[in-house]
Order: sequence, then structure tokens, then C-alpha cells
Amino acid sequence: MAANSEQTLNDIFAISDQLYSSMNSEAGGDHSKIFEYLTNLGKLLADSDRASFWKWDKNSHTLWTTAATGTNRITIPDTTGLVGKALSEGRVIVTNDPYNDPNFNSDVDKKTGYVTRSILVMPVANIKGEYIGAYQVINKLGGDGKFDEKEDCHKLSLAAMICGLALESDVFLEESYTDKLTKLKNRMGFFADFKKSYDAIIADPNRKLSLFICDIDKFKRVNDTYGHNAGDEVLKHVAQVMTENTRECDGMYRWGGEEFIMIMTDTDINGCAEKAETLRKLIEASECVADGNTIKHTMSFGVTGFDPNKTIEENISVADEKLYTAKESGRNRVIV
Ligand code: GH3
Ligand code: MG
Ligand code: MG
Repeated sequence: MAANSEQTLNDIFAISDQLYSSMNSEAGGDHSKIFEYLTNLGKLLADSDRASFWKWDKNSHTLWTTAATGTNRITIPDTTGLVGKALSEGRVIVTNDPYNDPNFNSDVDKKTGYVTRSILVMPVANIKGEYIGAYQVINKLGGDGKFDEKEDCHKLSLAAMICGLALESDVFLEESYTDKLTKLKNRMGFFADFKKSYDAIIADPNRKLSLFICDIDKFKRVNDTYGHNAGDEVLKHVAQVMTENTRECDGMYRWGGEEFIMIMTDTDINGCAEKAETLRKLIEASECVADGNTIKHTMSFGVTGFDPNKTIEENISVADEKLYTAKESGRNRVIV
């Protein structure tokens, strides 16, 4: 075996070793590290200067990179660029003269100062054969600096295949964490986030967490009076008001039925109660139009500061008790 191909094999094994370790340590977490290793693998296999893996979000009609080596996360409309073309046509695209290719989007080059000379885009499908993303390698390093569709796809297929599987499980994970109706994260998403983001805050004595649970008042009556579809519209409306008023650092979740939960970072119980009161007033003042009816509704809130000596379930129970008191004492109120 030639010395350089032995080196290449060793490099491949080094990446597969990293992949194996990160899959074991990141089980249930996000897969950004895995995608980073996979793009490194593609770069190596296709002997290219850069590689990126693009996820296709068919809901928002966007494409975004999980790990574009050398750049930060980028989101583009799925109708643009060579990645968009490769996905819409479901085929590999090779361009060795991108600046003369009408489908090439040079915006990223303009922004970063990078010069793209050659590109290969390989669509990646899920197990059902539906396209879910694309693998892109840029600037062939060896030979004449041009990608060869047959040979480079042949080599890239290993990374693209693993990437497809990783992406598919990522999509499944995301779907299982998301409530389809309101698009908020659900209870599973809450616990996943909790482990990932909030555990560290709880462990830090200088930081505070607080949370509230809220529940739509007399929601059964909305369903009974206006129908289940109208009830769904009210849930979406409430979720939207909540989302618009949630900071980036806080989390809003659909806890179940017509119950929502907000967790606030670096906020004490008073700050959390203020937020709950703001939302209560906003909901009370707002109206939801569904099936030609204008539906007014209110919500009750139970607020608590996070006690680090209690489990998350116990903390939620405290908020739940406050919520119960809010219901018992007449609804449409915040109890701390
Ligand atoms: P309270 O003020 O005590 O909270 O009264 P409520 O009527 O809101 O409470 P209850 O728990 O009796 O009723 C909740 C209702 O929420 C019953 C259930 O059918 C409805 N619900 C739960 N999930 C959904 C949903 O996804 N869509 C619709 N339309 N209704 C839902
Ligand atoms: Mg209710
Ligand atoms: Mg309820």
C-alpha cells in the first residue's frame, strides 16, 4: 500500500474513532459534534478544502448547515444555490467553474472573502428515499482542482450515508420534542433541554432559575361552545403570545393539554411573577378569531423559584400547587 493511502486510511480511522466516542457520549443530546466529524470525513475522502452538511427544513423552506467548516451556521431559502438545485432535482451537481454557473450563489464568498473554484453537491435521502439534506464539498485540493462526479461521489458516499442516518435520527429527535399543534417544545423537549441547559445553571450557586405553569381557564367550555378546531386555534394563539414574549435564554413548553410551562434563567421568583402577570394581561386583552367567532379567554398561573435541593419534578409540583390555588381562588390570576 502506498504511504499516502495508508496515511489516508489512518486519518479515516481517526475520524471514525472520534465519531464512535462522540456517539457514545452524546446519546440523546444534539448531534453537532457528530456532524462536525462527518464533514471532516467528507473533506478528507473527497480531498477538498471545505465541506458542509445542509439540512433541509421543508416546513420553513430553508436549508441550513449544521457544521460548515470554517464558517458559522448559515440559513438560506431552499430555492437558492446549488444545494437547493441538487435537492429540488434530486441529483448530484458538480461545478468546476462556479462563477459562470447561474445557480451558484456567491453571497457567502462575498461575506467571507473565500474564493470558490469547484463544488460538488450530493443529496442525501432518508430510509424512505426522501431527500432530507445535502452534502457539499468545496475546492478540490489535489489533481487539476476539479471534482469528478463519478469518482468523488464514490468516495463521498461513505460520509454521505452516515450523515443521512445521523440527520434522520436528528429529525426524529426534533419531531419527538416538538408539539405539532403549537410548534412549541413538548414535555419530552422540556426534559431534554433541562438536562442539557439548565443542569449547569442549577449547579452554579450564583445563578437563579424560576418557573411557572399556566393553564387556560374553562377551556373545556371553548371546545364545547365553538368546537374542537376552534379550541385548537385558541391553543395556537396562546402559544404565539407566549412565544413572542419569551426571551432567547428562557424556555416555553407545552406541558400537556392546555397547560404551558415557562422556565426563566437568571431570574428570581419576583421577576418570574412579573413575566407571568404580563402574559396574563396580554392573554386577557387578546382575542382569537376562529371559524368566524371571536373568542376571549384567560389563564391562571402558578409561580415558583427553583429550589436546587429539590428535583425538577418536585419544583414543578410546587408551581402546580400554586396554579391550583389560582384556580380555586377565581382563575385569571398569578399565584406566587
Ligand atoms: P380549568 O379552568 O379548571 O382549567 O377548566 P378547564 O375546562 O380548562 O379544564 P379541564 O381540564 O376540565 O379541560 C381541559 C380541556 O382541554 C379538556 C380537553 O378536551 C381540552 N384539550 C386538551 N388538549 C386539547 C387540544 O389539543 N385541543 C383541543 N381543542 N382541546 C384540548
Ligand atoms: Mg384549564
Ligand atoms: Mg388543565
